[in-house]
Amino acid sequence: MAGDFRVLLFYKYVEISNAEAFAQEHLEFCKSLGLKGRTLVSEEGINGTVSGTIEQTDAYIAHMNKDERFNDIMWKIDEADGHAFKKMHVRYRPEIVSLQLGEEDLNPNQVTGQYLSPQEFKEAILDEDTVVIDARNDYEFDLGHFRGAVRPDIRNFRELPEWIRENKEKFMDKRVVTYCTGGIRCEKFSGWLVKEGFKDVGQLHGGIATYGKDPEVQGELWDGKMYVFDERIAVDINQKEHVIVGKDWFDGTPCERYVNCGNPDCNRQIIASEENEHKYLRGCTHACRVSPRNRYVSQNNLTTAEVVERLSLIGETLETATV
Ligand SMILES: [Zn+2]
Repeated sequence: MAGDFRVLLFYKYVEISNAEAFAQEHLEFCKSLGLKGRTLVSEEGINGTVSGTIEQTDAYIAHMNKDERFNDIMWKIDEADGHAFKKMHVRYRPEIVSLQLGEEDLNPNQVTGQYLSPQEFKEAILDEDTVVIDARNDYEFDLGHFRGAVRPDIRNFRELPEWIRENKEKFMDKRVVTYCTGGIRCEKFSGWLVKEGFKDVGQLHGGIATYGKDPEVQGELWDGKMYVFDERIAVDINQKEHVIVGKDWFDGTPCERYVNCGNPDCNRQIIASEENEHKYLRGCTHACRVSPRNRYVSQNNLTTAEVVERLSLIGETLETATV
């Protein structure tokens, strides 16, 4: 039944000593509650998404609230029809979000951008002198983003600092505000911008997830869907209107359906209609379509003759080198 389950998105930058042991105990605790999800733990904090029944998630929040390290976590709560994960993982990592700043790594509790409420962030979007930078990966942006936001030309969040340095002159003298799914990526990224010399840096507090639930802004100025890292893949944000911005990888028509490229060596996330998935054997390129490991072919038990026939309809052959 809709609403019998919940998905919790949360993070906290706070010192956790013996983080590896904490991760192990925390995993056992989450399992004992019956939660499923994916949580990262490091010396710098905790970052997770978990799903469970209302009772299970309530018990989890109550448990975390009893711990003074976590009692001010800003929970993002979505109603759901069931679990959003198959298993429960709590893993120890050097960082709770991978920006790989190395020597430049920073503690967001010491340096970070100004926190903006959903209302303040909405005003920033509408302000012509403010640059809104999406601090997520390209495939997340392509499914949905704030109207007019800058899409950094990067495949991965880790590449963001380098991209900013290359494009610095475009933003240096402007007010820069950033956003991401739940706010965690912006904590470090906006802090990095401050350290990099940007004068006026803001970040959407609580991320897109909080913005969509806010009773005042109700997700306004968000177009498309928000990509999420669980089985739901995409969720709605704008409660007032729905504008599709996703484009089918193969023919560019409006589409919001994500699939992974059938070639496991590629695995690229592509937006594709069901029709085009079949037409192109779920392969993002010719090489992926004809890969001997293409999972679409094995999952659908296609014979070589059937593959050849399917390829001929899109003007391709089994040869890996296209003319
Ligand atoms: Zn591919």
